[in-house]
Amino acid sequence: MSKHVLVLSDVREGKLRNVSFESIAAAKLAADGGQVTAAVFGSYAKDLAQPLSQYGADRVIAVTSSELDQYTTDVYFQAFKKVIEHVNPDVIFTGHTSVGKDLCPRIAAHLGYGLISDCIHVEVKDGKIVFTRPIYAGKAFVKKVVKDGVIFATIRPNNIPRNEPDMSRTPNVEELKVDLEPDSLRTLVKNIVKKSSGGVDLSEASVVVSGGRGMKSEDGFKILYELAGVLGGAVGASRGACDSGYCDYALQIGQTGKVVTPDLYIACGISGAIQHLAGMSNSKVIVAINKDPEAPIFQVADYGIVGDLFEVVPLLTEEFRQLLN
Ligand code: FAD
Repeated sequence: MSKHVLVLSDVREGKLRNVSFESIAAAKLAADGGQVTAAVFGSYAKDLAQPLSQYGADRVIAVTSSELDQYTTDVYFQAFKKVIEHVNPDVIFTGHTSVGKDLCPRIAAHLGYGLISDCIHVEVKDGKIVFTRPIYAGKAFVKKVVKDGVIFATIRPNNIPRNEPDMSRTPNVEELKVDLEPDSLRTLVKNIVKKSSGGVDLSEASVVVSGGRGMKSEDGFKILYELAGVLGGAVGASRGACDSGYCDYALQIGQTGKVVTPDLYIACGISGAIQHLAGMSNSKVIVAINKDPEAPIFQVADYGIVGDLFEVVPLLTEEFRQLLN
């Protein structure tokens, strides 16, 4: 049976993040011929309706309040709840991002809806939506079917391919006014201080070059930024490297850090502890550089280089520079 699926667009600095289009692709599958509505918030919301429509949204609800330009739990909670009540969807998708992870459980609990988080695959079987998500830190996968009721699902970035855009589509936009209650707005974002991972968003990067304790120092990380720069990728790190003060915790990948699924993951001086693998083992191609041939990272690597990373990484950077120029 076809469904009406609502997608909350994930916007950063006025731009739609890839996971918004990936969520629309997932919504198209889940809708099974039904309607896909995208919600977008912020003063620039109407400008973003065009790409949302081109990537598959049948209808776009724009809430143009400038208070929604920056995510805060209070304002998004009020605005998204209003949109849900207005749209009355069967299924609600957001990205499995800091916004989706904060917002969905809160609204789901408030409205008495279900929640399936961190979905990596969506399909319809016998008229029911089947959601696949990893469990046990990525060691196994579980398929979940919803028997009845409205369900929230968060979609892990970089897993469900977005659809080819149809440039001929024009958006069907509806502007929705949300009266935010001033007394309930407890937080205000005054300033955002960015922590850099090489200019590319780590959780959406198609190439991630990661360093571990084997990088030896903050200075050691410089060669990773050079390689990532040549490949157009982002720099990540193990907790070992973060704990040692070589880089910021914003770069940490793993069970207690970010989960990434790039096309190419290059692990440099990382031993491959289970907690690190939880954040990167679903990468499409994994390359490991480690001087210890017994390092567990080689068990998940597609290509392994046994050697000193301070010799190997600059050689790789130079080779890629020549190849890609
Ligand atoms: P190490 O294990 O010390 O490995 C360093 C590697 O560098 C070694 O394999 C060594 O052979 C290699 N090396 C050294 N010098 C060179 C060189 N010159 N050239 C090539 N190779 C070299 N870890 C995470 O990463 N992410 C998490 O989210 C995370 N969450 C955790 C949660 C919990 C509850 C716990 C208990 C732990 C968590 N950890 C996490 C920590 C994890 O268990 C490991 O301690 C950590 O991943 C080790 O980091 P590492 O591989 O950089 O360091």
